Amino acid sequence: MIVMKIGGSSLRSVESLRLAAGVIHGRPEPEKIVVLSAVSGVTNHLLRSVGEAMQSERRIGGLLDYLNLLHRELILGTISDSRIQHRVLDEVAYLISRLEKLLYGIAYTGECSRRMRDLIISMGERMAVQLLAGALQQQGLEAQALDADKIDIVASGEFGNGNAELDTTARMLPQHLHDLLRRGGIPVITGFFGRTPGGHTITFGRGGTDYSAAIIAHAMEAEELQIWKDVDGFLTANPEIVPEARPLDYLAYDEAAELSYFGAAILHPRTVEPLSRKGIPAVIRNTYRPDAPGTRIGAEKQQHQEIIKSVVTNSDIGMLRLHGASLGQQVGFLKTAVSALSDAEINIISVITAQTAVNLLLGKGDVERSARLVEGLHIAYVDQIEPVTDVALIGVVGEGLDTTRGLAARVFKAVAGAGANVEMIASGASRVTQYFIIKERDRDATVRAIHSEFFGSPAQAVRR
Ligand code: ASP
Ligand code: MG
Repeated sequence: MIVMKIGGSSLRSVESLRLAAGVIHGRPEPEKIVVLSAVSGVTNHLLRSVGEAMQSERRIGGLLDYLNLLHRELILGTISDSRIQHRVLDEVAYLISRLEKLLYGIAYTGECSRRMRDLIISMGERMAVQLLAGALQQQGLEAQALDADKIDIVASGEFGNGNAELDTTARMLPQHLHDLLRRGGIPVITGFFGRTPGGHTITFGRGGTDYSAAIIAHAMEAEELQIWKDVDGFLTANPEIVPEARPLDYLAYDEAAELSYFGAAILHPRTVEPLSRKGIPAVIRNTYRPDAPGTRIGAEKQQHQEIIKSVVTNSDIGMLRLHGASLGQQVGFLKTAVSALSDAEINIISVITAQTAVNLLLGKGDVERSARLVEGLHIAYVDQIEPVTDVALIGVVGEGLDTTRGLAARVFKAVAGAGANVEMIASGASRVTQYFIIKERDRDATVRAIHSEFFGSPAQAVRR
């Protein structure tokens, strides 16, 4: 049995939908489960709709028309059997009418809880599974669209950032799928969300369908998780910054997790967790180039000669620097600051402490608000609170990084060569990664310098 995650970018046009359906149809495995994102752009549109509906009810009609037309065009373009076509059109019309009620609800009340927002933005996936299941039925397959919150994919935590309850889900999900699978049918399941123990829809954060697919692979004890995207997998660097970046054919779980956590926008950062529990391998494949091997991810650790496998960067981060002569000795201080931030649902990416300063690594958008919150705590021994937003994070990842002498020196020589100053370093927290903070304006030059230190300059790369 395999689980196939199909990303929204593979559903953006009639042509790409046909490709995706062909990839699913063409897989030889007897049991296949498909997990789906919303059609490309739809989740953003739904989030925007929430914002606009809060302002005024007048725009709701137009916002819904857009979704209606987008899905209608895809349905008419891929499903010619009129019975299937009508059924799918009806399902989508029903979902849009539910969405309409929700949007009017927030327009009239002028408020939208996180729980309500999760329900609203889950509609994209609900429409997508109807569409793709219809396209597969059109090809003569027994495909069935299923909503994750109705088949006991259970999650808890904060709305907008739920965490799967893996054991509960593993106990409950299989009974919903077994009969269909045994008949050779294909479950087409919504990604991105599950249900809370109390029955409310809860999402897993942006890009959460990868995580959904991993939860399902774990629950069903799949042999493999295939993640079908519009890229070839992980690369040695972001190709927009380093055009000569090369694809990686293999990563160990922790390497993939670190790369995802620190900003390679390939996988949802928590995807690896359910997989590694059961040793289920994943492979990232490109729908548009189905013959490319992609990147495999698994339990086995492999050390490359150059140690570093990839250099990642993330510009969405910032820092909150707290200064005070004796901060490092103040037990409990960190707890006070950290709980104030987590009460405000601010995610702390990392904490670096020294004797006279504590640096909190945060999402860029959270820095100012965090500064105000910590200010409000009036902690006696904090002399200065310094929000820093003009920075970017650079990370290098690779098995053997912690045990190879001279490696850090090579990294930082390259950084210095690019004219960048290191504002903060963190290493040792994870065995396979080292990351540091530089000024945002130095980002591209730094990434290029590290890449050419370890993977050769563009000229060398061409000669290979
Ligand atoms: N549709 C959701 C998003 O855009 C989930 C996903 O794509 O994985 O974030
Ligand atoms: Mg998406």
